[in-house]
Amino acid sequence: MGLSYRGIVKNAKPTSVGKVPALNFDNSQFLNRKRIGTRVLVVAICAALIALAATTTTHESGVVHAQRRPAPKFHVIALAEPNSIHKPFVDAAKGWLGRESMTENFAIDYIANTEPIDEKFLAQYQLFIQLDYPPYGWTDKAQKAFIDYIEQGKGGWIGFHHAALLGEFDGYPMWDWFSNFMGGIRYKDYIATFVTATVKIEDPKSPVMKGLPATFEIEREEWYTWNKSPRPNVHVLATVDESTYDPDSKLKMGGDHPVVWSNENVKARNVYIFMGHRAEHFKNPAFTDLFHNAILWAAGH
Ligand SMILES: [Zn+2]
Repeated sequence: MGLSYRGIVKNAKPTSVGKVPALNFDNSQFLNRKRIGTRVLVVAICAALIALAATTTTHESGVVHAQRRPAPKFHVIALAEPNSIHKPFVDAAKGWLGRESMTENFAIDYIANTEPIDEKFLAQYQLFIQLDYPPYGWTDKAQKAFIDYIEQGKGGWIGFHHAALLGEFDGYPMWDWFSNFMGGIRYKDYIATFVTATVKIEDPKSPVMKGLPATFEIEREEWYTWNKSPRPNVHVLATVDESTYDPDSKLKMGGDHPVVWSNENVKARNVYIFMGHRAEHFKNPAFTDLFHNAILWAAGH
């Protein structure tokens, strides 16, 4: 520790002016113990504060909660579409992910635009979740880093709904790489009036579909149509049965209509989940089980 006798005396002096000899060896030992004790206490407080900081989560309400838990198993970054028609879905997702991150012990951060994204930033995360954020208007730096992340398998990816809004929107050209990532598709149309439909699992052996029923209902979705089925370029995990549309709609892909799939031509474990417009999906156990499975699989757990 390097605590010298001289140092102790020097510090003790103000309390024993004129009576230096009174500061005998026993006293200095007592002071030494006291000092070490203080140091131990300071170290303990610091450790407690570090542990607290590591497990502190700020909730949407702005309330900071602290819980004791072990180091997170993995780190997730979620690119969340801000202030759009999808805000209720995104807010519900954040609430659900907050609970999920506690039970599955992962850490999650959110960004509302692509400005912070570069290779160094993405290197902190084992999973990238695209919460309805569209594939256009990204910075060049973010695009480059994301392509590298996906192609080299530096982390996993889960994208919802707007993540496959591929085409020219808001003055931006289509991001061709992203279109190919989604199976070479281009967005065509959507059912603006919403219809309920049955989703059929196509690959029940996939870890993403673990524990899910063979078919399940999704209430009131937009069921995007694309210019073609991504099937030739991706591994289809589930399709929507267009014959079950309730109420019926003329907007159909005409048979093969994948809604959950994975592109196996890149190294990253990835899952696109079309369903993602309404907050109420988080009350549907089939939907939350699907999201839960996708997180663990795509993050490599
Ligand atoms: Zn939508």
